[in-house]
This record gives sequence, C-alpha cells and structure tokens, in this order.
Amino acid sequence: MINREYAKQIKKLMPNRESASDPNSPVSMWKEMDRLRGYPEPTSVVIFRTKGCSWYNFSSCSMCGYFNDVSSSIKEEDLYKQVDYAFRSLGETRILKVFTSGSFLDPLEVPIGVRDYFMEKAEANLDKLLVESRTEYINARNLSGIKNYGVDIRIAIGLESSNDTIVRESINKGSTFAKFVESARVLKDLGLELRTYLLLKPPFVSEKASVEDMIRSIKDVSNLTDDVSINPMNIQKNTMVEKLWKKGLYRPPRLWSIARILLESRNMGTQVISYPTGGNKIRGAHNQEDSIELLNLIFSASLTQDFSDLETFYNNSDKSSYFNDLCLEDSMVFQQDLDRMVDRLGAASMTV
Ligand code: SF4
Repeated sequence: MINREYAKQIKKLMPNRESASDPNSPVSMWKEMDRLRGYPEPTSVVIFRTKGCSWYNFSSCSMCGYFNDVSSSIKEEDLYKQVDYAFRSLGETRILKVFTSGSFLDPLEVPIGVRDYFMEKAEANLDKLLVESRTEYINARNLSGIKNYGVDIRIAIGLESSNDTIVRESINKGSTFAKFVESARVLKDLGLELRTYLLLKPPFVSEKASVEDMIRSIKDVSNLTDDVSINPMNIQKNTMVEKLWKKGLYRPPRLWSIARILLESRNMGTQVISYPTGGNKIRGAHNQEDSIELLNLIFSASLTQDFSDLETFYNNSDKSSYFNDLCLEDSMVFQQDLDRMVDRLGAASMTV
C-alpha cells in the first residue's frame, strides 16, 4: 500500500517551520459557485487552520502542500473561535464547504466537541454542507454524531484514481480503491452523499495515460458517488510535484484534457465537474496558448451540466498541436515542459 522510499523523499521536502498566522481565524474564506443541490448556486468555502492531516505525521501526498497552512500549536479553543468566525461571515449563503488541510472527520484534527459545536451551528444556518475526509475516518461509529443533525451532508473523499499502482507509486496517498469502496458503502448505508475527487496528471504519469485513467476511474465510481470532481494538478509549494516542475520534469495538464474528460464522461451515470484551481496560470492547468474562453466553458459546463457550448467549441477548434504534444510526452520517461525548456535553453544561449 505504501512505497516507503518514495514516501520518505516526499517527507523530506516538507518544511519544519509552521504557519505563524492568527490561530483564531480560518486560513481563508470566500464564495464561489457550485451545484451541491443539483443546480448552480453561490456557496461559501472556509479553510479552517488545524493541526493538519494525520498523513503528514508519516509523509504527504506528492501534490499536497496544505501543510504550509497548518499549526501544531492550534488549541481546541482556537477552533471554536474559527467556527464562530465562519458562521459570522456566511452572509446570505446557506451552503458551506469546509476544508481543513486534512480530514474534518479526524477527531484528533477537529475534536468531537468542536465538531458538535460546528454541527449545531450548521443545523441552524445551513441547508447543505460538504466536508472532506480520508477513508480511515469514515465508519458508522464516527459518523453517527453528525448524521443526527438536520442538515444535508456530502462527504468528499480524495480517491485520486481507482488505479492502486498510480495511488501508491505516484500520489503516495496511503489508501486503496477497496477502502474507498468500503467508505462509499458506509456513507450510502447512513444516507450521506459522496463527492469523489480524482487527480488529473499526477507525477510520472503522462497526460495521455492520465486522461485514460480519469475516464476509467469515473466508470469505476459512477454507481458509488453522487458526483465526481476532476482536480487538475496545480503546483503547490514544497511538494514532490513542485520539485519536478522546477527541474523542468513536469508540466501541468492542458485545459483540452479536462474538456475531453467532461465530454467523454457526461453519460456515465454520475455528474462530473471540474473547477480548475489556477487555470490558465503557469502552475495550473493551461494550454500552450491562452484559453480564457475554454476555461470559462469548462466552469459553466460543470456548473450547469449542459455541455453543448463546450462541445461546439471543442469540435470547432484545431487541437493538432495538443495531440502531438501528448504523443511526444507519452513517449518520454518524464512529462517535460518542452516549451519552458526551449525558453530556458534560448535564454542560456543568449548569455554565453
Ligand atoms: S490526504 Fe489530503 S490533506 Fe492529507 S496529504 Fe493527502 S491531499 Fe493532503
């Protein structure tokens, strides 16, 4: 289940210093659009500052830099204040997504007292709630408390891929597809909803292979989940992916790949969405050319689940260089960013 040498290399990149930010307020809070109730609507998002993911004690996922926001000195009373802050800042919104740089359902990260306090406020102020968790905290005993509050809950799990080899050798998640399936069964038995995160283009997997993996993974989870969120890689600080990227050995996925996945999976029996973080930026999903319209279409198709405009744009665009780049990259050991390498070589030769 774990490649210990790889996990050790990833752990070495994690900084020892910790965030010195205010422990009484969340890392950040904002509003965005989502469709947690089956239609697009404004949704609040809060990132609570916690002690962080239990997996950090051993290692981290190869793309995850959320440890940059955590603090081991966070106390229970700080978390109560963060909860108050979040509900004070909700405004008109009655839909909330909670991120914690780890697992909301881990009682060592969010103690049961804080969780109950949060859920009481959620019951009074929210119609829908999404929280994230690793699979190890999804069991009937741990969930019995939150289930009794009168608020609809969707739990998000980072499966990343249904391929255990990719999860072990590339992502270092420390989990398996079998564990995900068991968690999905527990959630279904308890009447809780599930959002499944899949990761597009983890390191050491070509973009071509990753697109195929996403399609296969969507098929594998389609009858287990309420929706699937395709998360294209965005490069976070102090991670294995950043290390490769800085050496020119990794390129984030293209927006064309996201469009393909959305179009190919739209009739697979589950809703598939993608809201690319850092889209069109150098650390996020981007094409060779600037593609504002394509990014907007990916967002709007995800929100409305109407893919007609995206399909028209996709079919009427010249994608020959995209497919050529994917074939070339697939023939190489690493997913080099060839454009950046050419730029670098050009700059180096000018200085000679
Ligand atoms: S399980 Fe989530 S929070 Fe923990 S290391 Fe992996 S991506 Fe980061």
